[in-house]
Amino acid sequence: MLNPFEKIKIPPEVEDFIKSYLNKIPSIGGNTPKDRELRRVKSLEDSLSRYSEFVSTFPKVDELHPFYQEMVRIVAGDVDKLKMCLSAINRAVILSRKITRQYMGLIRKSQDEEANKLMRQCVGRVNSILRKRSECVSWTIQVAKSLRKLKAIDPSLPTIVIAGAPNVGKSTLVGKISSAKPEVASYPFTTKEIHVGHIDLGFFKAQVIDTPGILDRPMAKRNKIELQAINAIKNLDGIILFIFDVSKTSLYSAKEQLDLYEEVKGLGKRVIPILNKIDDKDEKLYKEIKTKVNPEFEISAEKGEGINELLNYVIPLMKHEIGDKVLDN
Ligand code: GDP
Repeated sequence: MLNPFEKIKIPPEVEDFIKSYLNKIPSIGGNTPKDRELRRVKSLEDSLSRYSEFVSTFPKVDELHPFYQEMVRIVAGDVDKLKMCLSAINRAVILSRKITRQYMGLIRKSQDEEANKLMRQCVGRVNSILRKRSECVSWTIQVAKSLRKLKAIDPSLPTIVIAGAPNVGKSTLVGKISSAKPEVASYPFTTKEIHVGHIDLGFFKAQVIDTPGILDRPMAKRNKIELQAINAIKNLDGIILFIFDVSKTSLYSAKEQLDLYEEVKGLGKRVIPILNKIDDKDEKLYKEIKTKVNPEFEISAEKGEGINELLNYVIPLMKHEIGDKVLDN
């Protein structure tokens, strides 16, 4: 699925718009002075489409996939403000067009020597309407630009989310189970980079993403944006692979990892526990975690051990996910 924000036609900032129109005026001529001024006003009217197209190509937030709705909330911070700005820009265009039409009528009826003055009046009025909205325009452009960057995660694909404490091997596993090199993506909900890979399922694809800075620490320590990011992840169809580090170099105790596991299970998705780094296992840590979660898989993401078995289990689950979707639609 195409990122729905990619189709937004981003306009220039108001001051740039005005400057470029004013620069263009001398080059617009006509057969008579009246004809010339009419063409100049008409050209202003036509260029206002930059702003009406901005509004019409901006996706309606309420109609977006819930994952993207959450992204808008994170990026814009205030969805009501976004709606208000879009409608204010739209009203400014409608009003400006009304004015350009009025002035075209006045110019048609005017004397040749008056026409230029009327054109300048018209431009002045339209500029002042646009300037009143310039803050809204500027802010909405920034929101649109940030939303356009969110390309890598596709909520229409079944998704394998890799969770677990920092340094347990999440991104290593994304790389190991993806059919091609994962993309590195920046998202507004974490300062860390997210890896997004894909797994071929025959006719379909599943995506696999790690979650640095999100599903890797206790709920109480998360800020508002991270909580919104978790909401967004809950809206992706699929499963969560929860990775435990059982190595001698693990940065987290069994208890810390188990507490996090319980929290991730609370998200209401299917969570599959996996012990990683078994090539370097710490017997005590390994036993403590193993007895508590009874994991279905023990792997070494780095050495590639146990990866085929994991894929043989996960791929049918993803195919099932697609089957359910097809039946749902
Ligand atoms: P993330 O922070 O959870 O994404 O963890 P990374 O994938 O970046 O891995 C953290 C470190 O653990 C890196 O130095 C990896 O090379 C190492 N690592 C990952 N998987 C394994 C494994 O199966 N065995 C061992 N010994 N090290 C691993």
